[in-house]
Amino acid sequence: MRELVPYIPGEQPRIPGLVKLNTNENPYPPSPRAVAAIAEAAREGLQLYPDPESTLLREAIASCHGIDAGQVFPGNGSDEVLAHAFFAFFQQARPVLMPDVTYSFYRVYCRLYDIQLQLLAVDSALQIDVANYAGRPAGGVVIANPNAPTGSALPLAAIERLLQSQPDCVVLVDEAYVDFGAQSAMPLIGRYPNLLVVHTLSKSRSLAGLRVGFAAGQRHLIEALERVKNSFNSYPLDRLAVAGAVAAYEDRDYFEQTRQAVVRSRDEVTVQLWRLGFDVLPSSANFVFARRAGHDAAELAARLREHGILVRHFRQPRIDQYLRISIGTTAQCDALMQALRLLLPAA
Ligand code: PMP
Repeated sequence: MRELVPYIPGEQPRIPGLVKLNTNENPYPPSPRAVAAIAEAAREGLQLYPDPESTLLREAIASCHGIDAGQVFPGNGSDEVLAHAFFAFFQQARPVLMPDVTYSFYRVYCRLYDIQLQLLAVDSALQIDVANYAGRPAGGVVIANPNAPTGSALPLAAIERLLQSQPDCVVLVDEAYVDFGAQSAMPLIGRYPNLLVVHTLSKSRSLAGLRVGFAAGQRHLIEALERVKNSFNSYPLDRLAVAGAVAAYEDRDYFEQTRQAVVRSRDEVTVQLWRLGFDVLPSSANFVFARRAGHDAAELAARLREHGILVRHFRQPRIDQYLRISIGTTAQCDALMQALRLLLPAA
């Protein structure tokens, strides 16, 4: 236990008026239908345990994505789903392959479950090259698409090449941010028995506080996840979470409006950061990854904090001069740009 190095989530300070652009939450509230469904569920039935299989939620997810309910494994946030997937599939004699720049929780799960891992370097533009993953002995592959914290996406054809090059192990594609502009691998599930796609409702459905995520894959993979879950917690999803998540899936219009608003703001923020002299990686997510030559990123994050704006900085090799900035409301994006203009007057 002393050697375990836990994941450190972005801070959640209780400072009024703070512009919080550090944890990739959605700046818009959840669908009013989801909030109403949660209130309704709170009025009825909380004295009873929830359905251990979260059947209604599985069905809602399946119908949204055109798959079978038996191909869906929901969990308490996608972090929990990822943890179960690492436990179920990656405890192998061979290492699990992943990019050196990616969601840092993957490494934490490997330490927790004593899974060997091999980091494959992203290129100098911080892009994943799937050709690197071919022909290597692997006990599994995990990538985020779009990747975190870069926001860069791979096309579906690249994901398919990856699946074909590693047919004997589970390839986990974490699509936490896919709704903001990348292609989902969900349509490949029927053809690839080794594909597991993981989604969350924390980002594009504005439900980070509810804790709902899921994995989608062929039935044999879902059965393995169910065994792990049922050896751990019968009821990871409470009644409120299931009611809210089902209603969020049903409110398709709200989902479209809010995700398009985030995408529009992201593209505007990108242009404005360019004008201030930032390098900004092309993003398919609800955040941008940017650096400003001549200004230390940790220092810039600290100065922004003094202006009441939180962004994320990672003290990690290769990316320690970048800031990850979540896309906020129009007002929050304006506040960010105003603060940056003050801090970078020479630009
Ligand atoms: N995957 C990636 C790539 C993420 O950035 C996050 C959010 N930190 C998650 C998964 C976990 O999201 P959640 O547990 O809220 O579903």
